[in-house]
Amino acid sequence: MKPCAFDYYRPQTRREAIDRLIESGDDARLVAGGQSLMAVLNMRLAQPRILIDVGAIDELRYIERRDDHLAIGAATTQAELLEYAALADELPLVARALPWVGHFQTRNRGTVCGSIAHADPSAELPLCLATLGGEVVLETRRGKSRRVAGADFFQGVLTTARRPDELITEVRFPLKREGHAYRFREVAMRHGDFAIVALAADIGESEVRLGVGGVADRPVVRTLSLDGDLDDALNHLAWSLGAQDDVHASAAYRRHLVRELGRRLILEAPTLEQQAVEESADARARR
Ligand SMILES: Cc1cc2nc3c(=O)[nH]c(=O)nc-3n(C[C@H](O)[C@H](O)[C@H](O)COP(=O)(O)OP(=O)(O)OC[C@H]3O[C@@H](n4cnc5c(N)ncnc54)[C@H](O)[C@@H]3O)c2cc1C
Repeated sequence: MKPCAFDYYRPQTRREAIDRLIESGDDARLVAGGQSLMAVLNMRLAQPRILIDVGAIDELRYIERRDDHLAIGAATTQAELLEYAALADELPLVARALPWVGHFQTRNRGTVCGSIAHADPSAELPLCLATLGGEVVLETRRGKSRRVAGADFFQGVLTTARRPDELITEVRFPLKREGHAYRFREVAMRHGDFAIVALAADIGESEVRLGVGGVADRPVVRTLSLDGDLDDALNHLAWSLGAQDDVHASAAYRRHLVRELGRRLILEAPTLEQQAVEESADARARR
């Protein structure tokens, strides 16, 4: 199938994009890399009359290290983030997860913010944002912007806290914390497929923030104590996610993966030095 006819706008500034979005109301959809939206349009699950492409807005194409976070603008592609030289050092979790996002062809077009905006429950970048406690920056009428915590932004399958007149201008990932280890693991039918279960961990001295993707309707993050009964905590977490059977895996298998991969991810965490070596090897191997 082909999409319904639409008018296509390619604004050069973010102000122009937001003004067009506001004046077009419900008729408009933003498009960035088109890697998810075009499939939705081709299947006619959405039929917008106006597409506003943010891909040519140079002021939104940036990766900026700030005090405590890395800010990534809305026109930045996943491939550009993967090429960012300090990624493994500043955001080791994202460095490990990003090669799992689709294929290099899709990463060349797909944006970081587009993946966050799309909010697929199996997607790796929303999982990383929620696990690290990152933020989404949204902008609408002149001078009106707000920041929403990743944990509050994702509200269900393809559903977020974004209002229809808001553009995501950037996402902010907190930088690596000294003494913490960051691990990511995923099970999918084939590399590049969406995750059946994906796990992301920010491991501190006495507790771990463990994020789970692909099971509930959004990424779920829990803080688990490393001093308590870890198997018990993981079992509790696995049951709390409301796993469902589908064509890819049974609910029982998903719970099993949360328990088993979760334990391995946390207990087999390598030293930070080993992790850095693995990360750069991973990134090279998956390009
Ligand atoms: C073959 C294939 C395999 C894939 N595998 C994976 C995978 O394993 N893991 C994974 O996570 N993804 C996967 N994807 C999806 C891919 O990562 C997309 O790039 C991503 O989901 C959306 O990014 P995009 O820039 O292409 O957004 P688009 O498709 O352009 O937009 C997606 C949604 O976000 C909205 N949007 C985009 N930018 C903004 C913005 N700045 N502000 C507000 N709303 C915005 C759009 O309106 C739309 O609703 C795959 C895609 C393909 C085609």
